[in-house]
Amino acid sequence: MIVDSGTVPENSDPDLELATATKAVQAGLHRDSITGAANPAIQLSTTFHRDADYQLPGDFNYARTNHPNAAALESVAAQLDGGESALAFASGMAAISALFNTIPAGAHAMAPRIMYHGAQDLLIKLSETKGFALDLYEHDREIESLMRPGQTDLVWVETPTNPMWDVIDIESAAVATRAGGATLAVDSTVAPPPTTRPLELGADIVFHSATKYYGGHSDVIGGLLIAKPDERRWPGLIESRTLNGSILAPFDAWLVLRGLRTLFVRYERSSANAMAVAKHLTEHPAVARVLYPGLESHPGHGIASRQMTGGYGGMLSLLLAGGEPAARRMASRTKVFVPATSLGGVESLIEHRVAAEGPNSIVPPDLVRLSVGIEDVNDLIADLGRALDQDR
Ligand SMILES: *Cc1c(COP(=O)(O)O)cnc(C)c1O
Repeated sequence: MIVDSGTVPENSDPDLELATATKAVQAGLHRDSITGAANPAIQLSTTFHRDADYQLPGDFNYARTNHPNAAALESVAAQLDGGESALAFASGMAAISALFNTIPAGAHAMAPRIMYHGAQDLLIKLSETKGFALDLYEHDREIESLMRPGQTDLVWVETPTNPMWDVIDIESAAVATRAGGATLAVDSTVAPPPTTRPLELGADIVFHSATKYYGGHSDVIGGLLIAKPDERRWPGLIESRTLNGSILAPFDAWLVLRGLRTLFVRYERSSANAMAVAKHLTEHPAVARVLYPGLESHPGHGIASRQMTGGYGGMLSLLLAGGEPAARRMASRTKVFVPATSLGGVESLIEHRVAAEGPNSIVPPDLVRLSVGIEDVNDLIADLGRALDQDR
């Protein structure tokens, strides 16, 4: 819906009940009261006027604290996840860093043993420098037994987990976390709002690397935190972003907002393509195993079918029968899949993951990670087939 709201997009009309997909498509649409522009301007001003009474007439004072393009993105991001408020950061890691830095010395935190390696490295470092205890759980069933009531402060869940795509049951993690009086934060980068809404499953805070499905075009780095009303960490997170200067820049916020308008269709197409690729490769003799939550053979399929209601996403991994040399060869032989790290863009990517993570990686060396994009699926299947068949 289009409302006249000056240069700050504001598309929440309380009288109109709209589906989340519609909100995403219309994100940021408005009518600029001066120019009539239908799309938001990029506001680069770092500072904002005070009025005759020396008051700030709007929500903005200085752009390191907040600015119109970040605010526009945050308003939409909060709606997509069914949250009260959102904060946009200069990268996913800046957002994670702000959150992990709220864990006090002497407290206890938990995270999956296999997860996005950068975030785990940060958590391990912070546990050492700040002096909190950290447990890395193998399976979500362990969360309950590892809880230390009164001491556990934060439980971090990533689902599906990078790069094995195990599925963590958010609802049961939330029950265990709440019983222990801790905060449940979910990295839902790989399962964005078209398929999973962690706050509705009991999580307190959701994180997205906006670099991935939100931006969707591999051309912007950003991160988002979204929370329910009255989240006790929220004032501290706002303060941390201002003091550390880690807000997302105006143009980058504009790009993420532009990207998320097609989030739902991109996610649907990536999911359909990935499912077809996964099914096809299951039959291939050079592939020992396909790890994809959409396959019935996947151990997390039962939870995924309840928790990923809008598709299983574009991420899958292959374990190759020919071991590490075969994985390395395959990742350098495709012509449509781009040999590069990252995920969630319109273009398909292939990666020999252990090489990307470095010497401390615990990822199986025969693993090839695919980010399936939105190309014609027959081209993708043929490309992977050619890269594998050269080995036979
Ligand atoms: C990329 C990624 C991050 C980190 O986000 P950046 O935007 O690269 O800083 C965190 N978690 C997951 C699952 C990711 O894929």
